[in-house]
Amino acid sequence: MDLIECPNCLQRIPGHFAVCQFCNQPIPANLRKAVPKASMFQDDVDHQAGSGFSDEVVWRVYNGMAIFWMVTALWGILDVLVIRPGMAGRGIPIDVFSVLGAMIFLFRIVVAVGLLQRWEWARKVGTWISLIGIIVGLRNTLLSTVTILAFGPLGVLIVLIALVDLALSAAIFWAIGETDRIMARDRMNYRR
Ligand SMILES: [Zn+2]
Repeated sequence: MDLIECPNCLQRIPGHFAVCQFCNQPIPANLRKAVPKASMFQDDVDHQAGSGFSDEVVWRVYNGMAIFWMVTALWGILDVLVIRPGMAGRGIPIDVFSVLGAMIFLFRIVVAVGLLQRWEWARKVGTWISLIGIIVGLRNTLLSTVTILAFGPLGVLIVLIALVDLALSAAIFWAIGETDRIMARDRMNYRR
């Protein structure tokens, strides 16, 4: 494949790209090279992550899920430390389990911030937490019939929350894996 130098960041990129894959600088048509039709498909594959979604979409999902994870953890802290004791109302103290629960949610916020910063440790920890979230979410969903029978309409809500949690964990797991592929590919392109 013919490579050209991006006029803006000087990275080497495939000659037919209309936009630099590193700095998003539009490449003027007079600098671009035509590509034989046969190799076009291969270049497009090079340009994408495993899922076939564009880098932009994958990173958008990744950031969106990290923010959603942060917000739901904030909600979890409120729930554990404020709402539940408030609803119980009858002087139920915040016990060791609520504090532990709040700390886990707090840790999730730190990891979510790390994900947004693309810190390597946060991406590793995030993979594991989301994997555990998928397993727990599957279990909770499987137990949903029992939950609905036991709690009635409230059970439906509990199941919905479990499903959202499951989907969120799966989305984070997927997004970290996809962005891993994107970053590995960009490192390879950099070396070329
Ligand atoms: Zn560039």
